Amino acid sequence: MMDVYKNPTFDMACEQFDLVADLLQLPQSERERVKRPKRSLVVSIPVRMDDGQVKVFSGYRVQHHLSLGPTKGGMRFHPDVTLGEVAALAMWMSWKCALTGLPYGGAKGGVACDPRTLSAGELERLTRRFTQEIIPFIGPQIDIPAPDVGTNEQTMAWMMDTYSNDIGHSVPGVVTGKPVNLGGSLGRREATGRGVAFLVSRAMDVMGIEASKSTAVVQGFGNVGCVAAQSMAKQGIKILAVSDVDGGIFNPNGIDMTALDQHMITHRSIHGFPGTTSINNADLLLIPCDILVPAALERQITGENAARIQCRILAEAANGPTTPDADVIINQRPEIFLIPDILCNAGGVVVSYFEWVQDLQSFFWSEAEVMDKLYRILETAFSQTFNMAKQQKLTMRMAALSLGVKRVADAKRMRGLFP
Ligand code: NAD
Repeated sequence: MMDVYKNPTFDMACEQFDLVADLLQLPQSERERVKRPKRSLVVSIPVRMDDGQVKVFSGYRVQHHLSLGPTKGGMRFHPDVTLGEVAALAMWMSWKCALTGLPYGGAKGGVACDPRTLSAGELERLTRRFTQEIIPFIGPQIDIPAPDVGTNEQTMAWMMDTYSNDIGHSVPGVVTGKPVNLGGSLGRREATGRGVAFLVSRAMDVMGIEASKSTAVVQGFGNVGCVAAQSMAKQGIKILAVSDVDGGIFNPNGIDMTALDQHMITHRSIHGFPGTTSINNADLLLIPCDILVPAALERQITGENAARIQCRILAEAANGPTTPDADVIINQRPEIFLIPDILCNAGGVVVSYFEWVQDLQSFFWSEAEVMDKLYRILETAFSQTFNMAKQQKLTMRMAALSLGVKRVADAKRMRGLFP
């Protein structure tokens, strides 16, 4: 029945779910209902390219469950986007929102395209036409998109503008991750990366690791990886290597993050930063360090390399960076403390929730208020997960997933089955 979603990342999300369902002893009659995505939309997006040709792109939006409120999740622009990948990411959004107590079901969407090869005009026409095609499927009380890989504040501004033009008045609450002067929230852009750094410091407390004596490696230097690296550096952690899709830069003595920031502004790339050597993305994951932060795409830590990573904290800033066969290996390495993705990168959706609340009330908060509320929620989610893992002798991933899945399953049971 779920062949339409067939994809390695979707298989991975289902495999994780099945393990958790067994652990929670969810009745068979409830499993399929909790697991299967509620509804999905596939659209074709004709775009006039700069050379006058019309190219048709494929766009997707999957809403995983509708039992706790509207759905929420990012929009990804990347060549590998498929319905199955989007469905897996939507499922993880459900468990993440439930783990952090947000009144949302999970969603995700995207367009199979390479934004790096599109001009600004092509990107705007693609975004607006995609938004137009999915208008009946989204809305502040239906489904609220946000940025993900390959999208940013500008993408969200175009989506909000296209939706608002269709409705006839400004509807800032239809997307989050907007520019601040269009109803975005202070702290949203930095929220995911800062949340990662906050949770890393909580894990260091547990492990007895001192920030000033520790080192980190970050794969992926986009919205999440860049802010996570900068925030960890501010805590005194030495950043040994960072990377993007073209590879990494490495300095065993540590990279000066302030100078790298300047280099990025001038060169729009991490590459060629003085004092570093080049390293490929596969080798980067194997650098000995205290904190390893995969912050790019899914399935980077696999059965092939999991035994060879050399870190004490694995902070999953990306969604689904570790495959189930890698999990089996990491579970046999008690020296590694895992901060699972649905906890580690939850800062983004938490501040997206704050943005939505501020938009609905047209009442905006200070950055200090946003960050204070964010850290309180992350602290609660971390302690609940950690305590459950300890008390029930579970891995951090199983503890986090079971807290999330149980809340969704309980909501469905309490609401009952219609009709
Ligand atoms: P982004 O597009 O801003 O950055 C992605 C980075 O990864 C870029 O530096 C890119 O060059 C690099 N990259 C792409 N393919 C790569 C590869 N094969 N190997 C190494 N690096 C590669 O995206 P982002 O928003 O920073 O998202 C990164 C991850 O964090 C994704 O898994 C995303 O789902 C997750 N996430 C993002 C948010 C958010 O608020 N943006 C929230 C939660 C989770």
